[in-house]
Amino acid sequence: MTDLDKKDQYHKVRMERKKAQIDASIEKASDEKGILLVITGNGKGKSTSGFGMVARALGHGMKVGVCQFIKSRTDTGEEAFFNAQPNCEWHVLGDGFTWDTQDRQQDIETSEKGWDIAKAMLTDPSYDLVVLDELTYLLSYEYLDKNEVLDTIQARPEMQHVVVTGRSAIAELRDLADTVSDIKDEKHAYTSGIKAQKGVDL
Ligand code: ATP
Ligand code: MG
Repeated sequence: MTDLDKKDQYHKVRMERKKAQIDASIEKASDEKGILLVITGNGKGKSTSGFGMVARALGHGMKVGVCQFIKSRTDTGEEAFFNAQPNCEWHVLGDGFTWDTQDRQQDIETSEKGWDIAKAMLTDPSYDLVVLDELTYLLSYEYLDKNEVLDTIQARPEMQHVVVTGRSAIAELRDLADTVSDIKDEKHAYTSGIKAQKGVDL
């Protein structure tokens, strides 16, 4: 047997073992329910991860609702694309970043109005997936009552999936979630002076 044959043989044995382990763990994970996902952290990719799941769900003919908090821009590629999909309802519910509005009472009012729309989705079983983009800030800045938000998410229809994105997710939201991804910022083009690019950042 040549060294290459040995390497191939060793690889086959390792992959057989790995397959047995993976098959066993797939078999163990047999529950079905609506999942709460929290995509947080300082790295890029939180909202785009949420929008990726919107595409997946629509591809399966599922009904999707998206609430974009904080941000007010309505010229993003994702909105143009997903708003044109018949099974997707898209709401831009912010009036700018906190450092743009500089007005806490106005932020609270805007947040509460947005929350009413999100709540209607979270109590409507016809939505299979609800994305609450940048909701984390409304909790960390205490613009919304966290118990009200967490209770509503917890009491949502059994099979409804919810994705919450944004930095600094509060501990109670992470605890409630089934899946939490904390995206790390290793580097970002912006810090080398590159402005937000169409198709990448908006
Ligand atoms: P994206 O929408 O690209 O997935 P995100 O949701 O992870 O980004 P946000 O905090 O919502 O991150 O940021 C929105 C904008 O800020 C995007 O244009 C994104 O590229 C940019 N951004 C994200 N992370 C960073 C970072 N670490 N440094 C600088 N800019 C960032
Ligand atoms: Mg985002």
